Amino acid sequence: MGVTISHDEWKARAAALKINGQAFVGGKHYAAQSGETFDCINPATGEVLTQVTACGQADIDHAVQVARAAFNDGRWSRMLPKKRKKILIRFAELMEKHGEELALLETLDMGKPIGDSTTVDIPLSVEAIAWFGEAIDKVNDEVAPTMPNALSLITREPVGVVAAIVPWNFPLMMACWKLGPALATGNSVILKPAEQSPLTALRIAELAAEAGLPDGVLNVLPGFGSTAGKALGLHMDVDMIAFTGSGEVGKLLLQYSGQSNMKRVALECGGKSPHIVMGDCPDLDRAAKSAAFGIFFNQGEVCTAGSRLLVQESIKDELLEKVVDWGKKLQPGDPLNPSTQMGAIVEERQMDKILSYIDIGQQEGAQLKLGGNRALTETGGYYVEPTIFDSVNNKMRIAQEEIFGPVLSTITFKTPEEAVAIGNDTIYGLAAAVWTRDIDVAHRTAAALRAGSVWVNTYDAGDISLPFGGYKQSGFGRDKSLHAIDKYTELKATWFQLS
Ligand code: NAD
Repeated sequence: MGVTISHDEWKARAAALKINGQAFVGGKHYAAQSGETFDCINPATGEVLTQVTACGQADIDHAVQVARAAFNDGRWSRMLPKKRKKILIRFAELMEKHGEELALLETLDMGKPIGDSTTVDIPLSVEAIAWFGEAIDKVNDEVAPTMPNALSLITREPVGVVAAIVPWNFPLMMACWKLGPALATGNSVILKPAEQSPLTALRIAELAAEAGLPDGVLNVLPGFGSTAGKALGLHMDVDMIAFTGSGEVGKLLLQYSGQSNMKRVALECGGKSPHIVMGDCPDLDRAAKSAAFGIFFNQGEVCTAGSRLLVQESIKDELLEKVVDWGKKLQPGDPLNPSTQMGAIVEERQMDKILSYIDIGQQEGAQLKLGGNRALTETGGYYVEPTIFDSVNNKMRIAQEEIFGPVLSTITFKTPEEAVAIGNDTIYGLAAAVWTRDIDVAHRTAAALRAGSVWVNTYDAGDISLPFGGYKQSGFGRDKSLHAIDKYTELKATWFQLS
């Protein structure tokens, strides 16, 4: 997808693109009852792309009623799994067919390089829908070994009305990691995309309807977190919140659940992942490239970003020089240029936050080795240079707080035990990596790191068949893999007494 399309061709397609920014409820486009809309901005230029429906309380109430009615009458929740499978696979195929359009929308909306949208975001989103569709008629329920004159069934049932609230860094992929298992298991879904990046979610709602997903089963309601998101969190008739985003909002959602109907909440939140390189690293060049891509991929707006580079003292200078060389090559550029590897930051506010953390790092005494500035200001867009700090102490704010931008903190250690202690000295526990040629050290370190994903001699490797999620304040519940099915189903025990 997209490999042969030139920069000029992408620009021409962007200029010709027709975007529908309306919400999607009950199988059709929907305008907010208040009539309100908000500006959807292209972060590469600062220009308005289109107007998007700003859903509020009344719209959420309406969508929940629509989703509940669809759930209760069984049009999807009681459809045979093999029929749901067919519709989801058709949905995935339509997403693939419109993959270049979806990639363009994603790049225009949040600033990521078009090369990443076409090769990472869209294919992995398609895969998530197809994979859970394929899986759902192959998952059996259970019979418990109770007693000879009883038949005891353990069955899974859909939770009901699921609200999926997602962030802006991988807008479609985060949505599809939730839609795949939530829809496959028979739930009705209300998807609230982030206000910075609603466009692909709105487009796939049309494609789902075209694929034959019954009306009311997938509703997309764009809007602000403090209005639409909060209304979902507090709603008495929403059964579950599936959330990806910041820990701050994750904690609010737990409170909303307690203040309302005790709805199930699953949280995928932030990270401050340690990328540990031991002195006996088997391949310093590969480790350096991994360290650079681990923090600069997607402009550093990645929950699993390897934002803390922990290096054994003996190899620090050599490794850091190589990482800096990579950083110099990964300068930001126009996201629509297929050769760009680092695009624009999602919005001005996020850019300002990143720049303020770079100031904080310098005030804290860390040594700036590369970058540190806004870039390409003349475009009107929001770009930040790849930035690398040396001499960081793990107590500094730049080592403890999630910056969510292209800023790497380098910390040295003396022993593998110290690396683990520093690696775990964070409120987060999303991901970690260790590079070593010693299998004992690799195994011991991987086991001791308190994180949901650990990589050995690589970074950010993943597959839809592996669960993804965090320990500690990185959240709970897992996306991806068959384990995600647990998240979207209730377990029922039914006892048949036999004579
Ligand atoms: P955010 O928490 O600000 O927003 C996420 C979503 O929550 C958006 O849709 C937003 O509108 C909504 N929201 C905001 N306030 C709300 C409220 N009061 N009630 C209900 N909903 C509300 O996060 P963000 O800035 O969009 O995304 C960045 C964060 O997401 C980072 O912390 C990042 O680590 C995290 N993230 C985590 C994962 C993961 O899988 N663990 C993946 C991607 C991003």
